[in-house]
Amino acid sequence: MNTRAGLDWPKALQLHARERAAFASARPRSRELSTQAADHWLFGVPLHWMDDWSTPFSLYVRTAQGAAFEDVDGHRYSDFCLGDTGAMFGHSPVPVARALAEQGARGLTAMLPTEDAVWVSAELARRFGLPFWQFAMTASDANRFALRWARAITGRRKLLVFNGCYHGTVDDVFVDLADGRPVARASLLGQVVDLTQNTRVVEFNDLAALEDALRDGQVACLLAEPAMTNIGMVLPQAGFWQAAQALCRRYGTLLILDETHTISSGPGGYTRAHGLAPDMLVVGKPMGGGVPCAVYGFSAEAAERAQTAKRQAPVGHSGIGTTLTANMLAMAAMRANLAEVMTDEAYRIMFERAEQLADGLEAAIARQGVPWCVTRIGARTECQFTPHPPQNGGEAEAILDDELAHMLHLYLLNRGLSITPFHNMMLVCPETAPSDVDRLVAAFESFIAAIRA
Ligand code: PMP
Repeated sequence: MNTRAGLDWPKALQLHARERAAFASARPRSRELSTQAADHWLFGVPLHWMDDWSTPFSLYVRTAQGAAFEDVDGHRYSDFCLGDTGAMFGHSPVPVARALAEQGARGLTAMLPTEDAVWVSAELARRFGLPFWQFAMTASDANRFALRWARAITGRRKLLVFNGCYHGTVDDVFVDLADGRPVARASLLGQVVDLTQNTRVVEFNDLAALEDALRDGQVACLLAEPAMTNIGMVLPQAGFWQAAQALCRRYGTLLILDETHTISSGPGGYTRAHGLAPDMLVVGKPMGGGVPCAVYGFSAEAAERAQTAKRQAPVGHSGIGTTLTANMLAMAAMRANLAEVMTDEAYRIMFERAEQLADGLEAAIARQGVPWCVTRIGARTECQFTPHPPQNGGEAEAILDDELAHMLHLYLLNRGLSITPFHNMMLVCPETAPSDVDRLVAAFESFIAAIRA
C-alpha cells in the first residue's frame, strides 16, 4: 500500500480533491472577490503569503470577533490560527477596540510620546523583569533593531542563530545548516549579500556546537526563540537554557530571546515562566491586541552599554526606528491590551483550553494509531507528523509535509475550523470554548479515520 505518515495516500488525495470542490462550491463570494483582486493585487492578494493557504482561492473575512471569524459567504469558523499569534488574546478585544476609538479621536501620530508610554514601560519592566525598553512596529523590526544594538554594544560583527529559526524579515539571520555547513536560505528573494560571512548557525539543544561557535569571542549575540516554534515545534531539553546562558556569558555574547510566539508561555513569556535572564528580549505580534507594534527590552547592563554606544556614535541616522514607531494609537492599544486583556486570568483560561486540546489530539492520535505527536507551550499546541517530538531544527524540518498539512487544514476549514497555515499550530484565546476544542478534536480525528492506512 502507498502510505505516508500512517495514511493511505491515494485515498488521502481523493479526499483532498473532494474537499477542494466542496470548499469552492460553498464560497462563491470569496471566489468572486479573489478573481477581482487578481486585476490589481500582484499575486491576487495584498501580501503574497496570503496565497499560501490551503484553499483553492483566498478566503475573504467579513468579521473577526473573540475566538471566531466569519467569511463573506456567511460561514463561521472557530479560529485556532488567531492571526498566527497577532490575535492570540482573541479578535478585536473590547478594551483595545475602545482604546482605539478613544485615541482615534485624540490623535494618531506625532513623533512624540503620550502619557500611555510611561505606564506601558513600567508594566513591561514588571512583567518581563528587564528594566529598560524600546518600541518597534513589528517583531521583525524589533529583532533587526536588537541585532543593531547588540553589535553596537559589543563592537562584534558576528551573529549566532539556531538552524531552522524564523525571526521575521531579518535578512542577517536567514542562514541554515545544509549537511553541517551554513548556507543562506534558498527561498530568499533578491538577497545578494553573503549572509554566511557574519552569521553562524548551530542546531538547537547542541551545547557543544554552541560553545564551538562562541569560543573565539567574535559573536555579538545569540538570537533565539526560547523554544522553536516556526519549524513545527522544538522544546529545549532540560538544563539547555541554563547552560546556554552561562556559555553566552562566558564568551561575552549577548543573549536575545525572541518571545514573539513563546509569549504563549505566560504573562512574562517563557523567560519569566522558566527564570531565564536574557540581556535583551523581543516581543511583538499580540502586544497591541492586533494593532501593529512590538517592544524590546534591555537588562540594566545592556542598557548602560547601549547608552554608551549611542553617546560615542556620531550624530546622524542610527538605522534604528521608523517614523510611526511608538505612535499614539499603537501605544494606546498596547496599554489597553496589557492592562485589561493579556491578564493572568486570561492565561489561566487559555492554559486550561490548550491542555484540553493537546490531550484530545493525543488521545485521537492514539486511537487512530498514526505515528504523529503533539507538543505544547502554554496556549500554543503543535501536531507533528512524527511519533517523537524533534530535538532540533534539522530533525523538525525533515518531517515537515506541506501537502499533508494543506489537506488537513482544508478539511478543517470546510468544517468551520481554522488552524495556522504552513504548519499545524493551534492557538486558543480566552473566548475559546470547551465545545470549540471538542469540535476541533473530533474533526481532526475524523480526518485521520477517513484516510488511515
Ligand atoms: N519572531 C518570531 C519568533 C516569529 O514567529 C515571527 C513571525 N512569525 C516574527 C518574529 C516576525 O513577526 P512579524 O512578521 O510580525 O514582524
